[in-house]
Amino acid sequence: LVRLRARLARSNSTLGQGLLSLLSARDLDDEAWEEIEDTLITADVGVTSATQIVENLRTKVKVLGTRSVDEVRELLRSELLGQLNPDLPRTVRTEPHGNRPAVLLVVGVNGTGKTTTCGKLARVLVGDGRRVVLGAADTFRAAAADQLETWGSRVGAPVVRRDEGADPASVAYDAVARGMSDGVDTVVVDTAGRLHTKTGLMDELGKVKRVVEKQSQVDEVLLVLDATTGQNGLRQARVFAEAVDITGIALTKLDGTAKGGIVIQVQRELGVPVKLVGLGEGPDDLAPFDPEEFVDALLT
Ligand code: GDP
Repeated sequence: LVRLRARLARSNSTLGQGLLSLLSARDLDDEAWEEIEDTLITADVGVTSATQIVENLRTKVKVLGTRSVDEVRELLRSELLGQLNPDLPRTVRTEPHGNRPAVLLVVGVNGTGKTTTCGKLARVLVGDGRRVVLGAADTFRAAAADQLETWGSRVGAPVVRRDEGADPASVAYDAVARGMSDGVDTVVVDTAGRLHTKTGLMDELGKVKRVVEKQSQVDEVLLVLDATTGQNGLRQARVFAEAVDITGIALTKLDGTAKGGIVIQVQRELGVPVKLVGLGEGPDDLAPFDPEEFVDALLT
């Protein structure tokens, strides 16, 4: 945890330090506030949130008549936290229902870190003494199933796969069936991230979901989003969110960006809580998203 905190802090410090130095270094005139807003926008916080943060902060600083660095930092902290909606439910639902495993669908554009996130998630669960089955429903690339198998053997979770080009829904079905017959706790299904047409995607993900729901229930649909892709990634994520009901976001590669503000924008835009963050390529580089910890790291 300490390591994760350090890594978050490193990737975020540009934003936090930038803001704090702007807030403490000079007269807070119109130009200064504009600069603060620009800094937030540059860090991918998003225009709406950046405007709100600055407006609220400006009002509070004025009302309190404060320029003390500690007080301003505290005000900024509570603004950032407020934007993150700290009361949203963040727990990833992985608990089985009686003799039925929990089923998680992991969706998102190729390259965002879907397969890696499935592997890391399985690792966390197995580490907690759970039994997990992984489903390789990204059947458009044989390499994706191979990659998932590598993760499966690494973390101790069997992988259900079929030949390249097989129906993704049938693989999801097989994975859940295997999970039920083996009596495992959780089935994690990696899906195809081809962003062809919205209708195609809806049909495909919709079918995967329907097929699983015939056997069990879908407990989570996690959307994987690459934090380094900014507006473009967000645009693509929106297409997924329209195609299937997302229950949570796994924001990957936060270790590779100084634009940690994307967490705020993603949540606002998609209306779904960030539940997990990816902080590296290794098996232990997945953490639950904790808004307080995140904001503290930002302002460290
Ligand atoms: P997929 O196509 O969505 O399944 O993406 P992959 O799981 O294959 O990941 C694409 C690349 O991103 C791989 O090289 C991963 O190691 C890397 N990756 C995934 N998550 C993270 C992360 O949190 N941090 C970093 N630095 N790299 C990541």
